[in-house]
Amino acid sequence: MTPDSVSTWDAHPFLPASKRPRDVRELLRLIFGHTEFRPHQEAVCRAAAQGQDLLLVMPTGAGKSLCFQIPGLARGGTTLVISPLVALMEDQVAKLQALGLTADRIHAGRASDASRQVFAAYHQGRLDFLFVAPERLAAPGFLEMLVSRPPTLIAVDEAHCISQWGHDFRPEYRMLGPRLAQLRPTPIMALTATATAQVQEDIIRQLGITEAQRFIHGFRRTNIAIEIGELGPGDRLEIAQNILTNPAARPAIVYAPTRKHTERYATALAKVLKAAPYHAGMPATDRDLVQAAFVRGDVDVVVATIAFGMGIDKSNIRTVIHMALPSTIEGYYQEIGRAGRDGLPSRAILMHSFVDRRTHEFLFEKNYPDVQVLQQLYRQLSPERPMSREQLQRLVGHDEDVVTAAIDKLRVHGGAALDVEGQVLRGQPRWEPSYLSQRKHRALQLLQVAQFAASSECRMRRLVAHFGDSEEAELTCGRCDVCRPASIGIAQDSEALPSTRDFDLRLLRTLAAKDEQAAGRIYREVFERGGVERSQFEHRLELLARREVIRIKTSSFYKDGQWIEVRKLCLTPLGSQRMGELENSLRSSITPPQITVGTQVIHKVYGAGQVEQTVAEFGIAKAVVNFQTVGLRKVAAAQLG
Ligand SMILES: [Zn+2]
Repeated sequence: MTPDSVSTWDAHPFLPASKRPRDVRELLRLIFGHTEFRPHQEAVCRAAAQGQDLLLVMPTGAGKSLCFQIPGLARGGTTLVISPLVALMEDQVAKLQALGLTADRIHAGRASDASRQVFAAYHQGRLDFLFVAPERLAAPGFLEMLVSRPPTLIAVDEAHCISQWGHDFRPEYRMLGPRLAQLRPTPIMALTATATAQVQEDIIRQLGITEAQRFIHGFRRTNIAIEIGELGPGDRLEIAQNILTNPAARPAIVYAPTRKHTERYATALAKVLKAAPYHAGMPATDRDLVQAAFVRGDVDVVVATIAFGMGIDKSNIRTVIHMALPSTIEGYYQEIGRAGRDGLPSRAILMHSFVDRRTHEFLFEKNYPDVQVLQQLYRQLSPERPMSREQLQRLVGHDEDVVTAAIDKLRVHGGAALDVEGQVLRGQPRWEPSYLSQRKHRALQLLQVAQFAASSECRMRRLVAHFGDSEEAELTCGRCDVCRPASIGIAQDSEALPSTRDFDLRLLRTLAAKDEQAAGRIYREVFERGGVERSQFEHRLELLARREVIRIKTSSFYKDGQWIEVRKLCLTPLGSQRMGELENSLRSSITPPQITVGTQVIHKVYGAGQVEQTVAEFGIAKAVVNFQTVGLRKVAAAQLG
């Protein structure tokens, strides 16, 4: 089919279609008003304009849309754009119309009259771009209409939705492959901002574009310093606050793991900064207010769940802080990608510890129930007689959460369907392999994110590799916590924490008392009971060794038929010096809390026992005692009633 065989272009005020150039550079200049392409755009546009199937993976903000718009115009005829979100369609159509192009959309939110007109315009060849939701291709007559006058290019936007490995899996995207096959040989372009190597394979296979040329570019961000610190949940807020108090660190987004956390952190930060919470549980109007205030600059720090950030147009975000381990690398990458769009240096700080992994595991078990639970539910379902959730729950006897999650998963994988009232019906029997592989994939994602945090490889290099971006793949970033010396960045931020100083002093004193002790033994005898996690302990040892505060001596011995490796810790001269410094600052930092009645100081106390004793001695009825750790001691501050 030649592109112009049935076209009768309407002249529009900007540039009539018949007068449009076919060269991608000319189109860029005349229609879009740019003189230069952004990196990689030109190669993509040329390949697509020549009719090559292709897969384009580029992060948000790298200029993906242009990569189907220009080749679409270069090929003439209509470009069919499959898009999953109404808001996205509306936005893109408005932008194209503003450029003087004929673009329109058909989706469930439009009146049927309007849709019919768009339909007619398409058929008469009057559209440059037609945007539709994937469901539309299933509507009676629609696909036949397209077949009778095929588009000249098909762009599948947000193509990761097609893959069950993708984080936004949409079942209706699943059917795109066979449906679009009827429009071949029109070239297909799949576009997404987020696809791991596995998702990329899946997209290509499902769309049947096995010869597709792949363009995976732009994942390396040279101005973001990624810093990852192993810190217990109790220390994270203080670190975040210390970092954000510096005006150069703002504006900032702080990502918290739950809605409750966003509220709590925002309240604490709001005491010293212009901070506000943002999460999906807030009324839409409040969310809009926070977002608008942030964009305007009236709010400096938004403490948000992952609901925040999509479509935010703010280029000067200086810091993105994750208060807990994220649940996927893809999500994490998108979130930190919101920092430094203006190209200026920015920081992405992630704080985590072993506790976070346990939380993930807990949520995983809850959201992805054991396959036996799904089997049990499936057996209870009937294809004709719908059942309510409550009924099912009674029949299988699991918690409400588990049953809800299980029904959800059965639905996604085809084993169940909902009727108009939301009652559950039995679906098709082959849901199991698909569920099992999704569950396995989810578990793998959690593992990957944990490995990423624990890795000692350049952070940016690892992220770039994760997305299959092979450009300068070997290059280290020189900015992350692995690339830079241990004395700056997050490591330095956590240095001032009482818990860190306390840790170091305890360790150094232990070694000063007896040098060359086994690490495992020191952990058990000195740190385990104090609630220090083993991974935190190891992490700190590694850091102290890198700074030559201690030396780790590895030796092995043969016992009961096997070699056993022992790490012994030794105090270095630098370590002795550090111990002295810590002891000095400890002495000067303790001012004993005082018990006062009115203005009269009645006693100075150092411990709980003394408070009780004092209270009894002075015959005071009630005392509120607050304990805090200063250096190595627990001291009490008492307020008497
Ligand atoms: Zn690096």
